[in-house]
Amino acid sequence: TAKASGDRYAFYAPRMTESSAGTLTLENQLRQALEKEQFVLHFQPKMNLASGGLTGAEALIRWNDPATGLVPPGRFIPILEETGLIHEVGRWALHKAIAEYLHWRAARRAAVRVSVNVSPRQLRDRGFVRDIRNAIDVDPHAAAGLELEITESLIMEDVKNSIASLQAIREMGVTIAIDDFGTGFSSLSYLSKLPVDTLKIDRSFVVDMTTGPQGLSLVSTIITLAHSLKLCVVAEGVETAMQSRLLHDLRCDEIQGYLYGKPVPSAEFEARYLLP
Ligand code: C2E
Ligand code: CA
Ligand code: CA
Ligand code: CA
Repeated sequence: TAKASGDRYAFYAPRMTESSAGTLTLENQLRQALEKEQFVLHFQPKMNLASGGLTGAEALIRWNDPATGLVPPGRFIPILEETGLIHEVGRWALHKAIAEYLHWRAARRAAVRVSVNVSPRQLRDRGFVRDIRNAIDVDPHAAAGLELEITESLIMEDVKNSIASLQAIREMGVTIAIDDFGTGFSSLSYLSKLPVDTLKIDRSFVVDMTTGPQGLSLVSTIITLAHSLKLCVVAEGVETAMQSRLLHDLRCDEIQGYLYGKPVPSAEFEARYLLP
């Protein structure tokens, strides 16, 4: 949720200044993790609510630390951002996610998309558009299979440059989703100008849907708004059948969440969602 990600940054910032030695150690560990290929991508399925079919997967990074096991991204993405390592790790994630997508596609198991999360520093980087181009250059089908998830607050920080970058990326055939929608404070006039294809409703709104009438009408309003702008709507963090049913009734296009499936390693994703 927005609060959690906001807290995350707030939590790491003071630690960076207080104990630079501790941070350095973690930084070195993360550098090594990159060299030793200890980062892994897990894939979480997205489902079309009308058909019940699989539409794609979100790639979510984990660090397979030999000492402690799988480390969730909330613990190390802020450090990668601070140190600039996010550029290299971000490029790795792009290439890896596209390779998985092409593998799924070559096996003709399903025409599903793969979504990759983009960090604030990545989008702000001048080389970002080129990184995307390089990543999709490996195969003529890569662009159509790739979606980037970019948070609303990130786009709003620098609207003009963001729009230019997103436009260039979209012209390559890559689709763009606004992540954690509703947690930022973007004005509606901006939303209609953003070159995006999909809007992901933040989990906090999905939770509030069943706690009172206001929550439900808020989600209903977001879906109507998105559809009036010809955007596809994905609800995040769907955990219950009740939430899924309500979203279906509100004509939400897709759901993602523990109800349909948790993020799993690629082999498991393939066995579970692509082979049957
Ligand atoms: P996000 O993009 O909002 O991803 C959704 C998060 O919600 C994931 O946490 C996912 O595992 C979790 N989730 C999915 N369904 C449910 C559900 O039904 N209930 C609950 N409670 N949670 C659910 P995760 O994997 O820990 O990732 C956290 C954040 O780390 C992501 O939030 C994203 O901002 C960031 N992240 C993950 N992978 C990458 C990456 O490759 N690059 C960048 N830059 N950021 C990443
Ligand atoms: Ca989030
Ligand atoms: Ca995301
Ligand atoms: Ca999200």
